[in-house]
Amino acid sequence: MEIATTVAEARGFIRSWRSHDLAIGLVPTMGYLHEGHASLIQKAREECDRVVVSVFVNPTQFAPNEDLAKYPRDFAKDVKLCESLGVGLIFHPSPEEMYPPGYATYVEDPKLSENLCGRSRPTHFRGVLTVVLKLFLILEPTRAYFGLKDAQQFFILKRMVTDLNLDIALVPGPTVRELNGLALSSRNSYLSEEEKKAALSLNQALTLAKSLLRSGERQTATLIAAMKGAVAAEPLVKLDYAEIVETTGLSLIPEVTGEALVALAAYVGKTRLIDNFLWEGEDKV
Ligand code: AMP
Repeated sequence: MEIATTVAEARGFIRSWRSHDLAIGLVPTMGYLHEGHASLIQKAREECDRVVVSVFVNPTQFAPNEDLAKYPRDFAKDVKLCESLGVGLIFHPSPEEMYPPGYATYVEDPKLSENLCGRSRPTHFRGVLTVVLKLFLILEPTRAYFGLKDAQQFFILKRMVTDLNLDIALVPGPTVRELNGLALSSRNSYLSEEEKKAALSLNQALTLAKSLLRSGERQTATLIAAMKGAVAAEPLVKLDYAEIVETTGLSLIPEVTGEALVALAAYVGKTRLIDNFLWEGEDKV
């Protein structure tokens, strides 16, 4: 397995693979890898000749009041996991390598960033779109793998790939959870045992909404009120949002008539967690 810390080094490996017509699968991450990341890496390994994992805690997707400095990092452990999963290259640049002095160009999608996480993190998706486009241009993947745990991110990236005519297939992977339902996240490492238990209310709220949908409820106001009630029962959890949007423009909808994204974010203590499910008419995710 190769490790590149500069753009030039990474390009050396990528160019040689591409000259042999090898299909490259990219899994962008911020490191502190867990089973959720591993599932994407495994999928990429099955579908591509070479797998590239980027490990980069991207400063431009954090607002000044967020957890950039304390975001968990363990590169040695990430290297071991990637090695065991058959990764060909880890791209692990410094912030200065990605954003040298004078850096000024950003990619934005104000429409799809309007609701859900975009509302409470107004500069977040601009940072995500910018870094992912840079990773695409540096690492020239055939396919790129993203988790539906970050469903809004996936839809926004899909829009970018279409709008900018990028010749890259985006492949979604299902949310990997603990047995008790908690969605895996690097940020779960911030939680105390008590907070971990309280955090189960996020998935419980979504499960409640799903069962209401299954029993025929279609009014989003009713579904959202039920989710809010489930989260409010847990004193350690403060809801940021619970929203239901359609999956093309990510606009809020009064009624669920087709595919919809049911999503929420909440603070568990000081830690902000997100979770969601996709409703595809009859529930497939
Ligand atoms: P992150 O390192 O948190 O930026 O995540 C990197 C990639 O892994 C993103 O595409 C995430 O959606 C995905 N991911 C994170 N957590 C999970 C999970 N629990 N299940 C599936 N994919 C995940």
